[in-house]
Amino acid sequence: MESLKQKAKELLEAGEIKAVLGYARGTSDTRRPHVAMSALEVDKLVADQACTTNLANLLMKHEIKHLGKLAVVASRPSTLRSLLQLTAEHQVADGAILALVPAEGGVKQLGTAQAFEEHLALVPQKKTEKDQALLDRLKAMPRAERFAFWQKEFSRCMKCYACRNSCPMCYCERCTMDCNRPQWVPVPSHAVGNQEYHLVRAMHLAGRCVECGECGRACPVGIPVHLLTFFAEDSVRAQFGQGGGASATIDNALSTFRPDDKETFIR
Ligand code: SF4
Ligand code: SF4
Repeated sequence: MESLKQKAKELLEAGEIKAVLGYARGTSDTRRPHVAMSALEVDKLVADQACTTNLANLLMKHEIKHLGKLAVVASRPSTLRSLLQLTAEHQVADGAILALVPAEGGVKQLGTAQAFEEHLALVPQKKTEKDQALLDRLKAMPRAERFAFWQKEFSRCMKCYACRNSCPMCYCERCTMDCNRPQWVPVPSHAVGNQEYHLVRAMHLAGRCVECGECGRACPVGIPVHLLTFFAEDSVRAQFGQGGGASATIDNALSTFRPDDKETFIR
């Protein structure tokens, strides 16, 4: 912890960055995002197991984006995967953001997409046991049963959009869901509107989801909505051999045409 604070202070004092985006104590045992622009604010930083929020989501917010060069605390590999995906989508320039990775006995400073990729190569991507078990169960279900499972889950959705707002890859300034002229997707949380929202979102994230699980954690009624995009991600990986957050130079599988595409869906 002390080495993270020390590194953050050094970078701020040297003028290499304008701010550090990390975590501070929230209410009770929670952690909340914290922007530190001075030594005093750096002292409030914490780095422990409770720091679960994927801070990459905040990098896309107007107030943070315009602060200048930032360092972000990457407690979880999914933050680095988010940075790679955002770089691949030209939302973040390579080298524009430093990642500070709390490590055994110190802190690792990573400054380029290549450094992020090299670090991630040492950290195997793993779903939680609970997520993997439910995902396996969903995959084993006949299609009609799986559809019924999701319909039941969607019926509990109240369209608060916390899942969308917590996602680092849902960064459009104006989301289709908020358009009312024309209104593409019904606003009320009824069966059709909920289903359309979740299926459109899952398709927008297929091949782009970095599997941070933030959307599922954000849901106030406990819908495992992250498993929809995990499911889509596994399908894209199986079909195209690539997934979200793997590289800063890869094109999105679902928006790329290649003459050697398998195109099995039209045979
Ligand atoms: S797990 Fe959810 S929040 Fe994280 S990138 Fe995928 S869709 Fe977005
Ligand atoms: S966070 Fe949960 S309740 Fe809110 S829109 Fe997403 S799935 Fe629905």
